[in-house]
Order: sequence, then structure tokens, then C-alpha cells
Amino acid sequence: MSECIFCKIASGEVPSEKLYEDDDLFVIRDINPLAPVHLLVIPKKHIPTLLDLTDEDMPLMEKIVKVAREMAKKEGVAERGFKFVINVNEEGGQRVFHLHCHILGGKKFD
Ligand code: 5GP
Ligand code: ZN
Repeated sequence: MSECIFCKIASGEVPSEKLYEDDDLFVIRDINPLAPVHLLVIPKKHIPTLLDLTDEDMPLMEKIVKVAREMAKKEGVAERGFKFVINVNEEGGQRVFHLHCHILGGKKFD
């Protein structure tokens, strides 16, 4: 059984409200939000970091970008502006080693 928290959320072993879900990915609110809107777009496939993405995974990345854009619109931050962030490895601030993208919005970032 996977010890990865995002795999556990993907499988439903750990319950979490999914704002969006399809066969490949899901979107949840960050448990420790750093902005009024803080969503995580997470592929169901366990890919540890951005560096582990293969050419085969590129259509998945494309899907992540498209869903992220739609979610930003739905949450009302698209026009105002938002951050779309992937933390990579330790110095990049990555703490969960299952690829995910942050959508951060609803406040002005300087
Ligand atoms: P990272 O620093 O790896 O880029 O971001 C991991 C993010 O996942 C953090 O912002 C953290 O708050 C969030 N997170 C960690 N565990 C959980 C969880 O169980 N549920 C949710 N919704 N977010 C989580
Ligand atoms: Zn995982």
C-alpha cells in the first residue's frame, strides 16, 4: 500500500473533498492555504517530481494546465491574476513527493 498522501487521497483511502476529478487527475483545496484561494491540481499517477515526467506523461501535463485554467476561472481569480507553481525538490520547497501544481490567488503577490 502506498504511503504517499496524494495517492491515498486519489484512491479515497484518505477522504478529501475533490472540487474536480476525472480518470487522470483531481483538484483539492490545500489543507494549509497560503492565499484565499489555494488549490492543488494532482495527477492520479504517482510521479515524484517534475523531473520524473516522461514524454509519455506530457499529455497529462497538458491536461493539468487546462484544468488549472478552468479552476482558476471557476474560483474567480483568473482575471485578477494568480500564481501557478510547481515546487521541485528540497530547495524548491517540495514537501510532498507526488507531482502537484499549486494555484494561488485572491490576494496581491509582490
Ligand atoms: P509542496 O510543498 O510539496 O509543493 O506542497 C504540498 C502541499 O500539500 C502543501 O501546501 C500542503 O499544505 C499540502 N498538503 C499536504 N498534505 C495535505 C493533505 O492531506 N490534504 C490537503 N488538502 N493538502 C495537503
Ligand atoms: Zn503518490
